[in-house]
Amino acid sequence: MKKFSFISLFLILSLVLAACGSSEGENAGGGEEGKVYKVGVDTTYPPFEFKEGGEYKGIDIDLIKAIAKNQGFEIELKPMDFGGIIPALQAGELDIAIAGMSITDKRKKVVDFSDPYFDAGLSLVVKEGNSEIKSVDDLKGKTVAVKKGTTGATYALENKDKLGIELTQFNDSPSMFQEVANGNADALIEDYPVIAYAIKQKDLGLEIVGDRLNGDQYGIAVLKGENKDVLEKINKGLAELKESGKYDEILKTYLGE
Ligand code: GLN
Repeated sequence: MKKFSFISLFLILSLVLAACGSSEGENAGGGEEGKVYKVGVDTTYPPFEFKEGGEYKGIDIDLIKAIAKNQGFEIELKPMDFGGIIPALQAGELDIAIAGMSITDKRKKVVDFSDPYFDAGLSLVVKEGNSEIKSVDDLKGKTVAVKKGTTGATYALENKDKLGIELTQFNDSPSMFQEVANGNADALIEDYPVIAYAIKQKDLGLEIVGDRLNGDQYGIAVLKGENKDVLEKINKGLAELKESGKYDEILKTYLGE
């Protein structure tokens, strides 16, 4: 009897150890020498990334997980304020960033982008029922809320004098939405798919005005010149997911038909 319990204990211990060993990282695919790539994502940017039931979800999250699985590398998600993502890549704290990040020439000086994976574009947004502001030309003397480090903030900064606006900057999108909904700012600039999704999901008391201000496209970023091998895998994975229908399936999960 004694011998039996000793053997059982040994078996149980082995099982526990085996289970621990295989649960590291986001998937069990054989990565490069077991390297786990750190992936920077925005804190909250539905439908691209958001936390639900203690878990990160969204188009960006599903996409990078599917790419990693397809290409056999492992990832660890690192949510942070959008404005901190490129600096974290530069500091070597991240290997990859997927955060509804627009491909811009300015960013291309410090990061390499994957092929584009989503067409976004900026929109002007006002409090619901605002009949005064129909386009950016009606912003003279108005306060515009933007999110730090985004292309929306860059647009507002570059056109500040021409449009005659004051700026107020936020770290995350929900705080920026709140500012306009409660009347502290007159308008905000946000990516079209994000604000359209937010308005559809909840009664935010906001509305989109006019046409999109530009044709921003999203790309997955890695530090310039440093991660060519992983960038190649990302592009290959992305192409394969588009080919197999998995990419469309992910989009459909969050955006519907
Ligand atoms: N697409 C915008 C940018 O790249 C906003 C991204 C975001 O807020 N996560 O700047």
